[in-house]
Amino acid sequence: MAESEFDIIRYYFARHRASRDDVLVGIGDDAALLQAPAGRVLAVCLDTLVAGVHFPPETSAAAIGHKALAVNLSDLAAMGAEPAWATLALTVPENDAAWLAAFSDAFFTLADRYTVQLVGGDTTRGPLVITVQAHGFVPPGKALQRQGARPGERIYVTGTLGDAGLALRMNDPGDNWLRKRLDFPEPRIEAGLVLRDYASAAIDISDGLLADLGHLLEIDRLGASLRIDALPRSEAFLGAMQVLDPDRRGQFHELPLGAGDDYELCFTVAEQHCGEMEERLARIPGGCRWIGVVEADQGIRCYRDDGAPYRPAVSGYQHFSSTP
Ligand code: ADP
Ligand code: MG
Repeated sequence: MAESEFDIIRYYFARHRASRDDVLVGIGDDAALLQAPAGRVLAVCLDTLVAGVHFPPETSAAAIGHKALAVNLSDLAAMGAEPAWATLALTVPENDAAWLAAFSDAFFTLADRYTVQLVGGDTTRGPLVITVQAHGFVPPGKALQRQGARPGERIYVTGTLGDAGLALRMNDPGDNWLRKRLDFPEPRIEAGLVLRDYASAAIDISDGLLADLGHLLEIDRLGASLRIDALPRSEAFLGAMQVLDPDRRGQFHELPLGAGDDYELCFTVAEQHCGEMEERLARIPGGCRWIGVVEADQGIRCYRDDGAPYRPAVSGYQHFSSTP
């Protein structure tokens, strides 16, 4: 990309002001020099977004810039890590000033909200692909992991489920809030930090509740029962469902179980910690909802409020049924 590669770095990425004093050398040298705090473990994650695969081609540059960082911050949140630094590998088909301005503005707006500093990256020409790596800190022994759940513990989720999935499937969700949930997911960083003190295991929901809870449970060869009527659904979700014709409503009502892109946290808490944890999360946007219980029997079993078993039709469920 010769000249324009350096122009892009200079105009859109290197100009943003430094936000952290633990960045000794940021963008502009052959590598960044970063001072990790003493007595902290470094949490590192990376996610790639490919146009047409991870987002529809018509997605706005701002949404892509936000989401590329947000999905990584969501992974840090699920580890209970405090975010600090990010690197960005950007492959773009052309030097499109309006696109790059909107992309970088949204990226830095989210980065600044969590005092995350962009410390380096790579810029190349090609089909649109964005890779972000994020780094965060966690006290030794305090990181939340997917492993660690125990039978009898309660299963919780933050926020609401299925909003992004619904927005993705409706041409016009008729409600901008739903669209925002798809395009501008808010990483649950504060919840992750609080949960260090309470959760025995945690994961962020990117592929759908059943799939991601399934990953968490599989590690310890556990199962769960889920109260599907307790799954948190937003007002906007319920409102949009009401105006759909019954056919599509039937098709969409399992979105809170199976749709991806929620970027909420799913976590397990031993009963004696639940009261205090609920109180603290209630003070954080999104809050949390108790949706089920960890069980020794593998597989995820769903129940209605009247106790009747419910067998989800959503694809992916089979991976997590009781047959190993
Ligand atoms: P090198 O050839 O040594 O890899 P580059 O020309 O690729 O150097 O990058 C120059 C500097 O700009 C490096 O510090 C790199 O980390 C940074 N950089 C390149 N692309 C980006 C980007 N998209 N966002 C942030 N920093 C970037
Ligand atoms: Mg390079």
